[in-house]
Amino acid sequence: QPPKVKHNYQSDVARLRKIVINSLYSHQEIFLRELISNANDALEKLRLVSLTNKAAWDGSDPLNITIKAVKNEDGKGGRLIVADTGIGMSPEELTTNLGTLAKSGTSDFLAKAEGGEATATGNLIGAFGLGFYSSFLVADRVEVASIPPKSEKNPNPVQHVFSSSADDSTFDVYPDPRGNTIGRGTEITLYLKPDAEEYLEPATLSALVHKHSAYSSTFPIYLFERWEEEVPEETPEEASAPTDSQDEPPVEPKESLGADSDDDEALVEDVTRDEETKVEPPPQKMVNVTREQWSRLNSQQPLWARDQKNITEDEYNSFYTSFFKDFGKPLAWQHFSGDAGSGTAFKALLFFPTKLPEDYWQKPLEYKSKDVKLMVKRVFITSDLGDQALPQWASWVKVVIDAEDLPLNVSRETLQSNRFMKQLRALILKRMIQLFAKISEGDDKAKFDKMQETYGSVIKLGAVEDSKNREKLASLARFSTNHRNETTFDQYLERMKKGQKQIFYLAEIGKKPADLAQSVFIEKLHARGYEVLLLTEPLDEILLGHLREWKNVPFQDAAKAGLKFGDEDLDPEEEKERMKQLEEDFKPLVDYLKKEIGDTVRDVVLSQRLVKSPCAIVADAHGYTANVQKMMTASQA
Ligand code: ADP
Ligand code: MG
Repeated sequence: QPPKVKHNYQSDVARLRKIVINSLYSHQEIFLRELISNANDALEKLRLVSLTNKAAWDGSDPLNITIKAVKNEDGKGGRLIVADTGIGMSPEELTTNLGTLAKSGTSDFLAKAEGGEATATGNLIGAFGLGFYSSFLVADRVEVASIPPKSEKNPNPVQHVFSSSADDSTFDVYPDPRGNTIGRGTEITLYLKPDAEEYLEPATLSALVHKHSAYSSTFPIYLFERWEEEVPEETPEEASAPTDSQDEPPVEPKESLGADSDDDEALVEDVTRDEETKVEPPPQKMVNVTREQWSRLNSQQPLWARDQKNITEDEYNSFYTSFFKDFGKPLAWQHFSGDAGSGTAFKALLFFPTKLPEDYWQKPLEYKSKDVKLMVKRVFITSDLGDQALPQWASWVKVVIDAEDLPLNVSRETLQSNRFMKQLRALILKRMIQLFAKISEGDDKAKFDKMQETYGSVIKLGAVEDSKNREKLASLARFSTNHRNETTFDQYLERMKKGQKQIFYLAEIGKKPADLAQSVFIEKLHARGYEVLLLTEPLDEILLGHLREWKNVPFQDAAKAGLKFGDEDLDPEEEKERMKQLEEDFKPLVDYLKKEIGDTVRDVVLSQRLVKSPCAIVADAHGYTANVQKMMTASQA
């Protein structure tokens, strides 16, 4: 026997394991979600590898995940075995993948978790996921037996074991003394802590899988179940035959490491007699038989392939959580199918998360859609859309799209040059806009408000960035006015006063709309009952600049010359006369002001726009507003 090789955990791992073990007690149950998620990843990897390496998997034997609880003979404690027939790990991979932290987010997690309290740490799990180390929440000792697939380089791989105790600072990696028992993949044996015995109960395990993982895996998840049943003695042979299961697991139950395995033993019979029964006909003799079967926990059909009429809101919510690993509820979703215009039939599910990524606005340019998961016939192919990546404004959307009639061995490269990808991108954007519109038109006010809060600026960004979809997105954008908290451009047009020929707006970034409403620039407009868009977000003015007009009505900055009221009730001749008179009356003042401040301003004129304020400084019709000037000065600095 080659000796066991002892390794020290990388220091980050040691720290992480400590946090896991000490402060996440109340989140014990997440270990199963993490192990299933890893098993699913491993199966997906194998499927991808097998496209180019037939020796890895020829497609004949099943890809699945199995869960089996084995109670100790003395009734105390036991072990839980989670296995997959996926990509497996070589001894080197066991050492690096499980003994070091390669994940980029983990040091962030460590810093936050070590600084915070246990409850805060609990919330962090959702954001980061703890992966394999969460095993130590429930296990004193963990053994991972694994074997990589056959390949040209490695035609005869050897099954190895990674083994570690919760309180060790080291782990061992060694050839499995049982030999190659797995065939392919990974088998994780958790020696459960005394306080984690509930995870030996099939009912608990089944409930947990349904709660966290039923939808995260497109591969079958099987649970081993064993129970006692009373049957009439007449048919002992039949009774002792194993129950037929519709979902016979395609793998043999595996023996677990180092333990005497009575658990796979044939059925146990136990005869009991009922001697006290006095009723006729004579009592039937009953026997207790042990039944066992593997039962499939997750649905055969992924959610997106099912008829939407039969899917509950809860099912969509838990699909979202487990499939996209986002632990908040989605804000909204679209479930649709079609043929992308290219004859490629597909089914798709599109979700809006409740929140944007935390740093979305800090580094918007670095956002690349990573959550558009492309499947072909239920097989995950890629989430890399290459040069068909979604634009910035849409990069946060979560989509799974399953194409029916692309060839399974389609490579990422050919996919990217495929027309389907282009159409897919356009289609996703269209559906996103539809969903925004649906929420805007729907009567769920709370949902609408949430959407505005989260995506209000995103919609404006889209209208600026995406010229193809500009009109549609701009029509969904909302703005405050001096009359109401929010309006669309169309609603504004509907309320325009008779004779009004411009859409008035006033912009100052960072101000509150209520403050802008008090501005001298809109005094007269307001007094005359005109509505003025009050723009306070950086994107607002940029958007108006791109649009220039809405349905042929030009935008007019209330702080610039060129305002036309359009409702002048005076006879134009009379008005002219009046202005002439006023100009004469005020000539001395105007001349005085020109002399005094002529260096500072371009001109001094008599205004029609003011009601209460004595004077205002306005920008030239073709010049920059004070606001834009401020931005320019800042950007030059
Ligand atoms: P993550 O899944 O985020 O990468 P984990 O801690 O869950 O982090 O797993 C660490 C690594 O260990 C995985 O990236 C993978 O390489 C390897 N691994 C874990 N479980 C399995 C498994 N069942 N089969 C193959 N590799 C696995
Ligand atoms: Mg993982």
